[in-house]
Amino acid sequence: MEVTELKDEIRNGITNKLSRHYGISAEEATTSQMYKACARTVLDILLEKRAKFNKQIKRNHSKKVYYLCMEFLVGRSLKNNVYNLGLKDEFEDVLSEWDFKLEDLYEEEPDAGLGNGGLGRLASCFMDSLATMEYPAMGYSICYEYGLFKQKIVDGWQMELPDIWLPGGDVWLNKRNDLTFQVKFQGRIEEKWSDKGLKIEHLDYDEVEAVPFDMMISGADSEGVSVLRLWRARDIKNFDMNSFAQGDYERAMMENTSAELINKVLYPSDNHFEGKTLRLRQQYFLVSASVQNIVREHLNQYGTLANFSEKVAIHINDTHPTLCIPELMRIFMDEHNYTWDEAYKMVTETVTYTNHTVLAEALEKWSAGLIQQQLPRIYGIIKELNERFCHSLWLKYPGNWEMVERMSIISHNQVRMANLAVAGSNCVNGVSKLHSEILKDDVFADFNRVNPEKFTNVTNGIAHRRWLCQSNPELTELLDECIGDAYKKDAKRLGDFRRYHSNKAVLQQLEKIKYNNKVRFAELMDKKGVTIDPQSMFVVQAKRLHEYKRQLLNALRIISLYLDLKDNPNMEIAPQTFLFAAKAAPGYYIAKEVIKLICHLSAEIEKDPIMREKIRVVFLENYCVTMAEHLMPATELSEQISLAGKEASGTGNMKMMINGALTLGTMDGANVEITEAVGRDNIFIFGMHANEVERRWKEGYAASSYYHNNAKIRRVVDQLRIGFNGESFETIYRYLIVGEYGIGDPYMCLADFEDYLKVHQNAMEVYKDQLKWNKMSLINIAGAERFAADRSIEEYADRIWGISPLK
Ligand SMILES: *Cc1c(COP(=O)(O)O)cnc(C)c1O
Repeated sequence: MEVTELKDEIRNGITNKLSRHYGISAEEATTSQMYKACARTVLDILLEKRAKFNKQIKRNHSKKVYYLCMEFLVGRSLKNNVYNLGLKDEFEDVLSEWDFKLEDLYEEEPDAGLGNGGLGRLASCFMDSLATMEYPAMGYSICYEYGLFKQKIVDGWQMELPDIWLPGGDVWLNKRNDLTFQVKFQGRIEEKWSDKGLKIEHLDYDEVEAVPFDMMISGADSEGVSVLRLWRARDIKNFDMNSFAQGDYERAMMENTSAELINKVLYPSDNHFEGKTLRLRQQYFLVSASVQNIVREHLNQYGTLANFSEKVAIHINDTHPTLCIPELMRIFMDEHNYTWDEAYKMVTETVTYTNHTVLAEALEKWSAGLIQQQLPRIYGIIKELNERFCHSLWLKYPGNWEMVERMSIISHNQVRMANLAVAGSNCVNGVSKLHSEILKDDVFADFNRVNPEKFTNVTNGIAHRRWLCQSNPELTELLDECIGDAYKKDAKRLGDFRRYHSNKAVLQQLEKIKYNNKVRFAELMDKKGVTIDPQSMFVVQAKRLHEYKRQLLNALRIISLYLDLKDNPNMEIAPQTFLFAAKAAPGYYIAKEVIKLICHLSAEIEKDPIMREKIRVVFLENYCVTMAEHLMPATELSEQISLAGKEASGTGNMKMMINGALTLGTMDGANVEITEAVGRDNIFIFGMHANEVERRWKEGYAASSYYHNNAKIRRVVDQLRIGFNGESFETIYRYLIVGEYGIGDPYMCLADFEDYLKVHQNAMEVYKDQLKWNKMSLINIAGAERFAADRSIEEYADRIWGISPLK
């Protein structure tokens, strides 16, 4: 289309929306109204594009992937969609006719925070790549009324406020009243013999209606559009018509709650399992509505389920949607009369599974009784699955009852979702090389012995168009000048930037761009009343707060530096700002204590005018996708310091790297592959390796011996009891040394402490030599080429799902 035509279409779209929804002209619109009009215009363009794309998928009889995930951390959509549609200039021009700035409209949009952290953000990045590369795909999740809580810090303590993203965010939701499904909970099962054999009947159940709301995610410079289908629950039968007819309004209205509770709020714990009834209902609600939808769509197109696994791949992101395995079995057997063996074959050929964690406390183990009560038919199928599965193992490994017990799906009245996911799928992947090896050697060692061909690795990636091109326009411009813009669709080309590693002009440009980004970030923080000096070095740890991620280790090191500076005020150091951003799960006490420690340490330093010129600690409130988009381009040193073996991959590490930050980290998750990509000389690695951690742990780790034998550690830890800013941190002291929560220092901060100090000193030495630093930064940007989500998705498509791009 001609540019003028495009602009006409956009102008008409916007004025029509303003007139229809608000009865006003563009000249009369507020920024918020204009934002909504633009969003709705973009949505219309995307809906039309998706309709065309869908037609093509249908015509080609393409195999499709359905990506099931309890979380999608979408963030904002207007900027991403306008950018990916290539309509930025057109929108800017049209808006300027009415004196509006596109940049200002972006700020009107609330983040869609329908996820906790890395897992949900990965799912969102994957939607972007699937659309861009024109894969036939669809995402499924829940339309939570409230996303991840908003964090407010009061006197150092985290408070949680509801995240009210609706109604503001619903301009992106396209309701599909024509595609509702019924989901059944509770009740009882009766088996009846008929002429067709044994029939299962589900009686006295509670029924909830699932209503889909579609979100469109544009591909970049492509015909592809991904659909993210979000389910909302609606009560159907509880409305008490009798009371209503008899004029008892109060009574009739009252019941209308339990169904709508299902999509009320996202569970805010990251990497931690809680066996709550409502959460189980959420999981089954997602799974049942999605699978019914998938089966219906397949039947509509092909009229048979015989070719189901040929045309459908269902992916479960972590074990949260694992119930799709028994749910598919139920539909095949109870509704379409397949035998157990036929159904089981079809299901396993269809389902694939990504594991996201090896932390024991994160593995889902549901009470068998709870599943039986809430989902009686599903429980019956799981039980049968378990019996047949264990029987087949028993035949293969006679007498090895220990192994069969370890692999069993139900044990001690608990349903082990990871085992169910492995038994019911054809492919299982980890999310970094190290993590996938740990899965094979440890978590799923028995399964790997039985079916080694099932296990593989796909290292995570990020949507580099969002995390580089959209959030760092200056760096993007420099890249365009140096290597052309092919890297936007073909991330491998980013590697070409390596050629410039000794080009002084380019290296100085890099330094300037980083500085400008730091200034912009400091200005943004200034508006929130937070002072940051852009001349200081930005050292950043931004991620969920978790013991294994070791924000505490970072804090301990800063305390040590602070004490050194108090002893020796003339010590030469480059001014540094230590930035933290992290939400703690609301019930995670020790994590909230760590936030409090960081905040009070920050306050104490801030009170000392000389100290704060040298080091400053800043806790950034309410970490979310939008903040990350501002923070990543401003980061110089990226803290990725999890205890080796615990972080499955990390993606924050990739976002910072691609924006030119150097990584200071442990040999954990994807840090190992980042090291491979840039070389040992272009990264700051420290600490124990995963095998060392395991060995030390088995020997019996005693944190107190570090306290007694290392004066530096003793001084820092003692300072915790004395406290900061008038607040003592006895609990953290006890956590480290005494072990109130089990064993002392369970994530071995003290064991890695000395090495961590040393590597920071190395980093500061290099920082003095800005040219060298910039060179390392350039090599990191170029090396990020392999961490694009596009690459991850190609690997999933080829090796796991067996799908192809449309063209
Ligand atoms: C990328 C991202 C994460 C994941 O960060 P990790 O460092 O990999 O844990 C979490 N939250 C937000 C908002 C993100 O953008």
